[in-house]
Amino acid sequence: MSDRDGLIWLDGEMVPWREAKTHVLTHTLHYGMGVFEGVRAYKTDQGTAIFRLQDHTDRLFNSAKIMRMPMPFSKEQLNDAQRAAVRENNLDSAYIRPMCFYGSEGMGLRADNLETHAMVAAWTWGAYLGAENMEKGIRIKTSSFNRHHVNVTMCKAKANGNYMNSMLALREALDDGYDEALLLDVDGFVSEGSAENFFLIKEGILYTPELTAALDGITRKTVITLARDLGYEVREKRISRDEVYGADEAFFTGTAAEVTPIRELDRRAIGSGSRGPITAQLQALYLDIVHGRSDKYRYWLTLV
Ligand code: PMP
Repeated sequence: MSDRDGLIWLDGEMVPWREAKTHVLTHTLHYGMGVFEGVRAYKTDQGTAIFRLQDHTDRLFNSAKIMRMPMPFSKEQLNDAQRAAVRENNLDSAYIRPMCFYGSEGMGLRADNLETHAMVAAWTWGAYLGAENMEKGIRIKTSSFNRHHVNVTMCKAKANGNYMNSMLALREALDDGYDEALLLDVDGFVSEGSAENFFLIKEGILYTPELTAALDGITRKTVITLARDLGYEVREKRISRDEVYGADEAFFTGTAAEVTPIRELDRRAIGSGSRGPITAQLQALYLDIVHGRSDKYRYWLTLV
């Protein structure tokens, strides 16, 4: 990733990609205290546009507040940085990664002498869980790792250190021949994927876990809005894994994963074992909106 042409926004300036470096004593590298976002820009008929930019920036600032990281930049500056990272790298479509981290000003956990640094990189990234899986659906496995207890790490923060848990779960699922993991909360109820929120559909009603231990996903919010606008009922509730086994349809949502159908959990086919009709309808609508093919939801797009 580091050896390529392009520009990365770092602490207020565009620097050549290969020179966007930090010291080995960078505090966040040692203890994982940092906050970040995953954002996407898509090619639309009016030019490249970022989907729900302000919502991502708001969540980044909320993550920083939860973690008590002082933010040296304004939301406007970080919005501009994200647009510039796409524009100045001449990207038609992009995955955008803003991240705020503590520097190498000190190593103590007291963190009283540290400065928050910020970076934004953007690059091309296709379907996160595989292009053909967007149609076929993925096979997932209940993880042996639980999602964080709500009073261990802060799940509403998209914080760097939280992703050790995601990586353990994903690695286990991949090594066992699955595409993704389904993590339960500490009480044994369905929480989310390693980087996606979860939905199931039963008798025409959509269900998604309450946000207790799951990230407040922007794609989740989008899909809830779209489903309700289409006339579907959406319920947030505790979901057990056997409810998933008996579901008619299931899918993951995420900025990277978009709307990815799930065809199997723990070797049990979900519904017909392929992408379900309501999932297909929501996925198509989501992809239309992010690509600017819908006037109704164009307010979610920011041209770069
Ligand atoms: N849960 C986790 C743990 C994630 O990392 C992500 C990706 N940001 C999501 C859910 C989905 O969130 P969003 O739709 O905002 O990308």
